[in-house]
Amino acid sequence: MTEDLPRNEAERKMQFLFHLRQRGVTNTRVLQAMEAIDRGLFVRGVFAGRAYDDTPLPIASGQTISQPSVVGLMTQALDVQPRDKVLEVGTGSGYQAAILAKLARRVYTVDRHKTLVQGARAVFEQLGLHTITAITGDGSFGLPEQAPFDRIIVTAAAEDPPGPLLAQLAVGGIMVLPVGQSDTVQSLIKVTRNESGFDYDEILPVRFVPLVEGLASD
Ligand code: SAH
Repeated sequence: MTEDLPRNEAERKMQFLFHLRQRGVTNTRVLQAMEAIDRGLFVRGVFAGRAYDDTPLPIASGQTISQPSVVGLMTQALDVQPRDKVLEVGTGSGYQAAILAKLARRVYTVDRHKTLVQGARAVFEQLGLHTITAITGDGSFGLPEQAPFDRIIVTAAAEDPPGPLLAQLAVGGIMVLPVGQSDTVQSLIKVTRNESGFDYDEILPVRFVPLVEGLASD
């Protein structure tokens, strides 16, 4: 099968955004943020040519950069406001964090792989995204010293929402995360904290790499 290849960058961008809309990413601020952040900068080597396809791709340390439409739907569900302080668990390539930086006041992102954190920092620097702090650590414990967070997004799957993350979510705050076993289809859920507890909504079926305990050797 031959596909029509976009003739230039503008056309490629239009196709990318058109596809996101088709998949249900309709929020204007989210689409603008995704238009502003070039996914090609976060994908290296042989996979770089597929950066604008709506597919997850391999990155360093055996991890993956998420599918753009899933990034869009998660960001949309997170409903980020301009004054928000956001925590991301699972920096990976840094793509999701860069999009969040376009929408929020402050972004903290944590990954257990030092190599990924260093790589992501370099791209943030290149893009002049100075409101992101990327930290090597086990994100399932959150970042108590920066809590509470208005928004928390987890881009690796746990069986249940980690207790420390629930505890670090501000009242009125929203957390979006995949839950379920790593080798099966998981559910993307939205957790909203109210005065008396938490509300849970299921958003869509997804497949993410697992949330793993402790620091990685690289
Ligand atoms: N958001 C990323 C994709 C993340 S892939 C992007 O935009 O590219 C999931 C990431 O979660 C991996 O990089 C993995 O190393 C990380 N991860 C898994 N368990 C973790 C943990 N306990 N703490 C922090 N990061 C973790």
